[in-house]
Amino acid sequence: MTLEPFATHEVFNQTPPFVDVNLAALDKPLLGALEAFGDAGAAPSAIAQAAGLGAAENFELARLANENPPKLKVFNARGERQDFVEFHPAYHALMRQSIAAGLASSTFEGSAALLASGKGKPRGKEHVARSALHYLMSGIEAGHLCPVTMTHAGVAALAVAPTLLKTLMPRVGSRIYDASFKPFWEKRGVTLGMGMTEKQGGSDVRANTTRAEHVAADEYEITGHKWFLSAPMCDAFLILAQAAGGLTCFLMPRFRPDGTLNALRLQRLKDKAGNRSNASSEAEFAKAFAWRIGEEGRGVPTIIEMVRLTRLDCITSSAGLMRMGLALAMHHARHRIAFQRKLVDQPAMRATLADLALSVEAATAVALRLALAFDRAGEDPTESVYARLITPAIKFAVCKAAPGFLYEAMECLGGNGYVEESPLPRLYREAPVNAIWEGSGNIMALDVLRAARRDGEGAERLLAELARETQDLPEAETLVQRVKTGLARRNAEGSARCVTQALAMLAAAAALTKCAPPSIAEAFARTRFHGGHSLFGVADLESECGQLLERALPAG
Ligand SMILES: Cc1cc2nc3c(=O)[nH]c(=O)nc-3n(C[C@H](O)[C@H](O)[C@H](O)COP(=O)(O)OP(=O)(O)OC[C@H]3O[C@@H](n4cnc5c(N)ncnc54)[C@H](O)[C@@H]3O)c2cc1C
Repeated sequence: MTLEPFATHEVFNQTPPFVDVNLAALDKPLLGALEAFGDAGAAPSAIAQAAGLGAAENFELARLANENPPKLKVFNARGERQDFVEFHPAYHALMRQSIAAGLASSTFEGSAALLASGKGKPRGKEHVARSALHYLMSGIEAGHLCPVTMTHAGVAALAVAPTLLKTLMPRVGSRIYDASFKPFWEKRGVTLGMGMTEKQGGSDVRANTTRAEHVAADEYEITGHKWFLSAPMCDAFLILAQAAGGLTCFLMPRFRPDGTLNALRLQRLKDKAGNRSNASSEAEFAKAFAWRIGEEGRGVPTIIEMVRLTRLDCITSSAGLMRMGLALAMHHARHRIAFQRKLVDQPAMRATLADLALSVEAATAVALRLALAFDRAGEDPTESVYARLITPAIKFAVCKAAPGFLYEAMECLGGNGYVEESPLPRLYREAPVNAIWEGSGNIMALDVLRAARRDGEGAERLLAELARETQDLPEAETLVQRVKTGLARRNAEGSARCVTQALAMLAAAAALTKCAPPSIAEAFARTRFHGGHSLFGVADLESECGQLLERALPAG
């Protein structure tokens, strides 16, 4: 018997997948920021590095790593405790790729020689190039970047323990992803995690109750717990615990120096809104072995060196997620026809896309400007103040803007944007975490106040510089005054978010004056400085619309 063919309809007017693209070459705002803030070859080098990044296989790896989340295997087949987390091969493939590209190590490469010579501490360099790559990779798959980020940033905290760092550095900087579960000194490449947050307090880490007992030299035994311990298959963790001298930073390896499994037990994995490719565990320590990092009582200043860098990555990650949302929305609008016209030619859709594009222009510009400040902070005091004040301000503004942005990008694809076959639901679920971890919104706003209070002169110098850079923009002077008044207020906590947002907008506009056409910086000031931008598409961007859309995703 022959069946009638099931020819009910023709499929047309559906958008082809956005794959096999060079994500850097299509991203004019990124290239502009790299030319302005990076080294001479930064833009072409990003295009070369991005060659395979936007391949269809990579988008597929991202889907698989998130649809097959990690599983906790507490015991092995013989019933022995192992506390092992099993990941899908797609996760390992992404890890391999990001580590090989240098995302866990590139800024500290060369430090091994410096450490061996005993002549200095590792200093990060070329943050701009790494941040650009981190932004691009975040658009593909952000979850696996959690351990990549922590490994990279961990080196900064370990700088106060040069002997230990000397042993770790060749493995942290090897660009080899070694997922085997064995002592780190037997591995060719290692990853680092971080444990600060406990049940009774995360932002307020001084409330930590986990205890550290001194054993010998810099060796301690740690007893207590961590309520969040992400990427628990890392080879070692920077941990905060209370020692006799106060809150102290430690390095806790998964295996003790004698090669036995350390007393670190994974209780369960968190069931999270997003960030599903990444494992986040709850852990307990029962006299777990650890080395002290830095002096007793100096735990917060030691680990803050790491957190400064992870915050930079939260920013580039959020900018990267927004960028991918915009690229998908633009791609769809260039293909989809409604009411006899492509969406990209419909005035109301153009206004929405242009407004989204303007936000990505600003996020990209200021993220890479900030990365430049990290590169220069060692030599230039104003850049050091920029890094100190603008990191929390931009983490606040960009990371908090990303979820609303991705919701709007999702809607540009209509129903298809809400369906898991598009990457948008995953990007949307991923976005809030960057605002929550590594210092939540209010903590960032309060940090801006604290930094300005501690170095009033530096803050004034920075504001003068931002005022000079934005002097030709509408309402800039008013915004500068708003920041000054907000910072000077005696009881400023209640308006901390207000002053932080204003400072962030000022820094973003200043960055745009350096790397985008003047009309874009002017449009940003005109539509963002008054503080009322809450919905996309309501700002009047008619004159800049064509330019913004062409820069967001070139036609053709
Ligand atoms: C997916 C995921 C993975 C994580 N991984 C790790 C990890 O690997 N290691 C780790 O150490 N932590 C990790 N965390 C924890 C994260 O860093 C904390 O959740 C975060 O720092 C907030 O701490 P908390 O949850 O204790 O909230 P709280 O500190 O209780 O804060 C709750 C809210 O109150 C606000 N708040 C706090 N103090 C003030 C104040 N003085 N004024 C006004 N508002 C205030 C905060 O901004 C926040 O909005 C992870 C979290 C998530 C979601």
